[in-house]
Amino acid sequence: MGAWTNWAGTEAARPRKVVTPDATVLIQREIEHAVAHRGTVKMMGAGHSFSGISAPVGTMLRPDQLVGIVSVDRDAMTVTVLAGTPLHVLNSELGRLGLSLHNMGDIAEQTIAGATSTGTHGTGGTVASLSAQIAAFTILSGHGEEITASPTSFRALYEFGRIGLGALGILTRITLFVEPLFALEAHEQPTTWDAALATYDELTHEHHHVDLYWFPHTEQVLTKTHDRLAELDGLRPLSRWKHWRDDEFLSNTVFGMLTTIGTHAPATVPVLNQLSGNALSERSYSDISHRVFTSPRRVRFKEMEYAVPRAVGLEALREVRRLIESSGWRISFPVEIRTTPADDIPLSTASGRDSMYLAFHVPAKADHTEYFAAVEAVLRTYDGRPHWGKMHTLVADDLAAIYPRFNDFLTVREDMDPQRVFRNPYLRQVLGD
Ligand SMILES: Cc1cc2nc3c(=O)[nH]c(=O)nc-3n(C[C@H](O)[C@H](O)[C@H](O)COP(=O)(O)OP(=O)(O)OC[C@H]3O[C@@H](n4cnc5c(N)ncnc54)[C@H](O)[C@@H]3O)c2cc1C
Repeated sequence: MGAWTNWAGTEAARPRKVVTPDATVLIQREIEHAVAHRGTVKMMGAGHSFSGISAPVGTMLRPDQLVGIVSVDRDAMTVTVLAGTPLHVLNSELGRLGLSLHNMGDIAEQTIAGATSTGTHGTGGTVASLSAQIAAFTILSGHGEEITASPTSFRALYEFGRIGLGALGILTRITLFVEPLFALEAHEQPTTWDAALATYDELTHEHHHVDLYWFPHTEQVLTKTHDRLAELDGLRPLSRWKHWRDDEFLSNTVFGMLTTIGTHAPATVPVLNQLSGNALSERSYSDISHRVFTSPRRVRFKEMEYAVPRAVGLEALREVRRLIESSGWRISFPVEIRTTPADDIPLSTASGRDSMYLAFHVPAKADHTEYFAAVEAVLRTYDGRPHWGKMHTLVADDLAAIYPRFNDFLTVREDMDPQRVFRNPYLRQVLGD
């Protein structure tokens, strides 16, 4: 029996039983046992959700033996992977095959099933979320039945199950659309709030991927753009020294020290943020895509992220800034700003609308409640949708009002898991049952 906590340390649980299955039949056995004894089964990812979505109650299944690529179809340009495969393993195995995912979020520690189950996304591109790159998946229902869903087979399940919150069953395999390995040119540039917001539409129009970081209590913004290169030759990756200095030492070790000082002496935060902003310098490099999309995040934090319609995104951001400035809070983490194209997944935060994502962080040990609650109230007035894997306070009735097909998701869940074998307290909060 083992205790479980998530990456941020915001959620903890003590499951009754822990199993590390290496075959479908062993998962089916646990589901059947749970059905017979009115218990629950929860398949873990890497525990990188900030919300309680992955907290186990009854039996906890670990994904460690469900790792690797199962098959590659170069005609369809798809790969089928075991559901527990960590993204960093997937990226390097795809790289060896000369293949790549289309887009990624900020890190590669998550499992493919965990990341897609919560709608993990990056920024820009023609697809932004990992879930939108799913061509098919194989899932075990709450009856223990194995179903492969795709646009041509179990279509409704395919539509909803690409972001299934872990509520529809246990994914065993996921087939992803891939493309030939490609490289990105990265350009990072410090700028000001006014300049960044004035040129934001231009920037997102001109570059494939754009990510902004605003340092609260200052005018400082860091702009990151990533653009696709036609060739893999002639890349200029960061040297080991520059990678260590910028991405490990400055962005993690020094930033971690500054946030610790800021947590103990909040009055220093505006000066520390100014120092963090000043420490950032312009840099350009090029590398294989996943090495550009992702970077190490070693300073533990708590996060809330909302997607608002792209058209009102900057207005919402300005309103949040006014709120922060009129409050007494001292916010030591930058606010991250990304955009994604609309997708067609019913419970995707970008479902049916181009979106802007606004992400708010505090150090793992700091109190987030007042800050997150006030920002959440603002973003709800902009029709905001919370990331399923990050902190928020919405309940089923709130979510039904912002997702047009929410009740259809509940119908699919009723078919897949009538006994609620996959339920946990978070799913009860967001699905109402
Ligand atoms: C440092 C950090 C950076 C992040 N960056 C980003 C980012 O850039 N973009 C973004 O969108 N999000 C980001 N996130 C959030 C993160 O991507 C999501 O919370 C993601 O779900 C975590 O994946 P995981 O493997 O840890 O899954 P977990 O959190 O462990 O689980 C998530 C859900 O998936 C379910 N699940 C896992 N495996 C299975 C399976 N086999 N079958 C059925 N259900 C399953 C779990 O039961 C649970 O319901 C970040 C998080 C951290 C800590």
